[in-house]
Amino acid sequence: MAIRPFIVGNWKMHGTRAMLSEARAIDRAAQRLMQVEIALAPPYTLIHPVRREAEQIGVGAQDCHPADGGAHTGDISAAMVADAGAGFVILGHSERRQGHGEKDSLICEKGTAALAAGLKLILCCGEPMEKRESGKAVDFVLRQLKASLPATIEEAGERLTIAYEPIWAIGSGRAASIDEIVEMHTAIRAFLVKTFGEEEGAAVRILYGGSVNAENAAEIIAGDEVGGALVGGASLSAESFMNIVLAVQ
Ligand code: PGA
Repeated sequence: MAIRPFIVGNWKMHGTRAMLSEARAIDRAAQRLMQVEIALAPPYTLIHPVRREAEQIGVGAQDCHPADGGAHTGDISAAMVADAGAGFVILGHSERRQGHGEKDSLICEKGTAALAAGLKLILCCGEPMEKRESGKAVDFVLRQLKASLPATIEEAGERLTIAYEPIWAIGSGRAASIDEIVEMHTAIRAFLVKTFGEEEGAAVRILYGGSVNAENAAEIIAGDEVGGALVGGASLSAESFMNIVLAVQ
């Protein structure tokens, strides 16, 4: 793999200030592992504290609202997460799609708002088990991507990362096989090149997510068109997260 692997920890709804010590330990270790780009997406409440602690790693949000502001009780805008210190936002995670009924059109609006606020995007896609079993996984994921990408993205290679996360692999302990990952990433790459042109389309990183751990990470990252990993459970302790980073460096 030519480009620097990008390993992102998605803390989901885990973490109080007690977990800042993990972020600190990850950041300290990252300073010695410059061959890998490392980022964390803690819950909203920890974005600013993690940003303050961290010198080396990227910090992002797990979602944002599509509106600039206004009467949206309990919501957080893209500008707010940027102001708290986030440099990117994860959008379209299957837990948002399933738990909050998020549709591609809403994810598209959120992406447009996030780009306008100066954030980079990690746009998630992934099929449910029945689509994989019926041989329709690639079609499903490409349709999802097409419908959830913001209409225009300047410098897509710089601003956009795709995360392919089959729903059945998330938190299940059963990662997709290398063949399944490479087939999907290759199809996503072709779609990106068609959408953004040869140069920008080739520069967009495509991460794999779903039960990545220190044992399977190196093999996954070595797959064609795999630019890194989005890690959930194994990112919650500095030790298990950095073991993944060490495995892929
Ligand atoms: P997991 O989660 O690593 O716990 O499977 C991945 C994700 O949901 O981003």
